[in-house]
Amino acid sequence: MLANSQTMAGLKGATRLGDIVPGLRRAGQYLIGPCPFCGGRDRFNVKVADDGDLWLCRQCGDGRYHDVIDFLMRRDGRTFAEVVGQPAARPRASAAPVAALATTPADDWQCAALSAAAECANYLRGDSADAGKVRAYLRDDRKLIDATLHDHMIGFNPAGRHVAGGWLAPGVTIPCTVDGRLWYVQVRTTATARAEAKDAGRRLDKYHALKGSRLGALFNADRLIGAAAVFVVEGEFDALVLGQYVPPGVAVVTMGSAGSLPGNTWLRYFAAVRDIILLLDDDDAGRAALGRWQERLPRARAARLPDGSKDVTDFRRAGGAVWTWAAAVLRGAS
Ligand SMILES: [Zn+2]
Repeated sequence: MLANSQTMAGLKGATRLGDIVPGLRRAGQYLIGPCPFCGGRDRFNVKVADDGDLWLCRQCGDGRYHDVIDFLMRRDGRTFAEVVGQPAARPRASAAPVAALATTPADDWQCAALSAAAECANYLRGDSADAGKVRAYLRDDRKLIDATLHDHMIGFNPAGRHVAGGWLAPGVTIPCTVDGRLWYVQVRTTATARAEAKDAGRRLDKYHALKGSRLGALFNADRLIGAAAVFVVEGEFDALVLGQYVPPGVAVVTMGSAGSLPGNTWLRYFAAVRDIILLLDDDDAGRAALGRWQERLPRARAARLPDGSKDVTDFRRAGGAVWTWAAAVLRGAS
């Protein structure tokens, strides 16, 4: 079915986010509550309007309000055409009716954003005192070795600036490239930048993706090609850490947050992988996401970290033997 403006307007007006997102409470013209994608208590924000609700997550979003169609695309891993062709009220068919694929941002956005990410990666490798401090943070707090930073083009943006029609916040830059195409640039903002934004009466969140990014892409998807096993984790930093402790032929991927499910574009990458291991955070959002992932990927099994660690980074910070644990999980012994 083709999208048309009438069904789009109808869908936007008829689907109230307050009806489909649990735990929202009213605050003036807004609804506020936990994010269905990444949890929390009050980071998910809905602007209620007759012609269609708009939503924003202060943690996993890109700093902009999105409409109901974007919400359904991200929640269900569907494309625009699938969402508009299939009203939200109708239960999802068990077989995907349309094998539509997600599309990357426009080429000119990709060029500008990728060259900014490359500049940030160069900065991080440089010998300035600031770059050294950031490398120490990534090494000591995030448990990332230099080779990991290099392989994933992780960088640091020392000052906020305009890139590709958006604002690239100061912080650690994490580009997501698949098959040579750039899907997003996520930024883990600095505490200083967040404090400055607050003083200026703005709010800057811990994660602020460059505008124009297509979040909900599969980070590390390329590594699934030819892989025998894969761990699915909640965020990029965990994917980077765990990637350091798995044997060759084992991939670690993430959709960037707990609640984003892989659509057709990304499910294809899992098709030939024998062993799919879901390692979602041990919190409400993670547990809710687990069932939805297993609905999408019935072959997938769940794994748990020892000692009640919330995620891989926590486990590693506590001195956990990640390599030994991962090897046991891969043998099926955990
Ligand atoms: Zn969120």
